[in-house]
Amino acid sequence: MTFLQLLVSRTLVAGFSDMAAQLDVLRGQQMYRHRRVLGEAQGREVYVGGRRLLNFCSNDYLGLAADERVGTAFKAGVDRWGAGSGASHLVCGHMAVHQELEEALADFTGRPRALLFSSGYAANLGAINALVGQGDHVFEDRLNHASLLDGGWLSRASFHWYRHCDADHLAAKLAANPGDRQLIVTDGTFSMDGDQCRLAEMTRVASAAGAWLMVDDAHGMGVHGSGGCGVVDPANYDTGQVPVLMGTLGKAFGTAGAFVAGDEVLIETLIQKARNYIYTTALPPAVAAASLASLCIAREEAWRREHLAGLISYFRAGAAAQGLALMESTTPIQPIVLGEPGSALAASTALEARGLLAGAIRPPTVPKGTSRLRITLTAGHTESDVAQLLSALADTLGEQEQAV
Ligand SMILES: *Cc1c(COP(=O)(O)O)cnc(C)c1O
Repeated sequence: MTFLQLLVSRTLVAGFSDMAAQLDVLRGQQMYRHRRVLGEAQGREVYVGGRRLLNFCSNDYLGLAADERVGTAFKAGVDRWGAGSGASHLVCGHMAVHQELEEALADFTGRPRALLFSSGYAANLGAINALVGQGDHVFEDRLNHASLLDGGWLSRASFHWYRHCDADHLAAKLAANPGDRQLIVTDGTFSMDGDQCRLAEMTRVASAAGAWLMVDDAHGMGVHGSGGCGVVDPANYDTGQVPVLMGTLGKAFGTAGAFVAGDEVLIETLIQKARNYIYTTALPPAVAAASLASLCIAREEAWRREHLAGLISYFRAGAAAQGLALMESTTPIQPIVLGEPGSALAASTALEARGLLAGAIRPPTVPKGTSRLRITLTAGHTESDVAQLLSALADTLGEQEQAV
């Protein structure tokens, strides 16, 4: 071994032992993250570690991830288009089925155009970075999704927080930070709290300041609004009010990928400038074919939204009767805040022992002191599933209080 090799290997070893120590710290703080391996398809129940568990943590809000018709469209897509797209959209990976999905998404959201991205994370980074840069300003809600924060930070625009859903605070920040380009960025439905942005106020404040508004409706699309159009109903909000609308396909639509919808000029700008669009392989065409099928089902089968809304009310009424502290959420995301990471983990573990899966969400995903069980309901659940959840919560959270 040469001296240089020795030096490099020493440095690496030192680096890794440092990392191992950091992992130990995470374990000690009850902040260590584990993955569960599912042995069967995503659904109302999941098969984990040899057991079938009632699943209350997926984002498969309409129960379409394992829908047979979506799967059939996927397989037909492979037969027709092959497995991979082979290139980025701008080189030669943009197939007619991608184009058809973009047109269907534009129609679904009531916007002139839509542009497909490989994931919601990529869409958010790509859109924000194409729109603002050095010398500009980006304004973000305190509870925005990590991908929106990363997008803002990477853009090199000045980054400004505003208090959660506080339009007055936002207006003050806009006034204090004038510039040619001011971009306001918000979740439509907040992913960990389940509440929705106050869109009427946000659009008012944005227009008054001449700022652009970007709404990430990853959790709202398919779930809310007429035909599942999401939080930004085109009947009430045009592209002047909400110029940048982002949605994902991996949640209510049950497939994968994401899109940004808006005017011609926005979409053409993204095609020219969004690096996460330009420098990445186009989604597998069969994913687009499957998404076309699920979009159609989501639109037409309104019973899924109605059934889900019924379950949400049923859960909230039952939980309130039990004295559980719920958040102000009318969406499928129904968190129960327990405080410390250990409490959230213990509750999640106790539920699992009773055959139910609900995720423990801890910092940095949520602010310190607000670790929680994040319960999500889907159209695949029945009322008796939710009754089972309520009774398990009564047992486990009751026990926890006694333990304190
Ligand atoms: C899930 C999520 C994303 C990321 O979407 P992916 O397609 O999973 O990458 C972006 N924003 C919000 C609010 C999300 O919940």
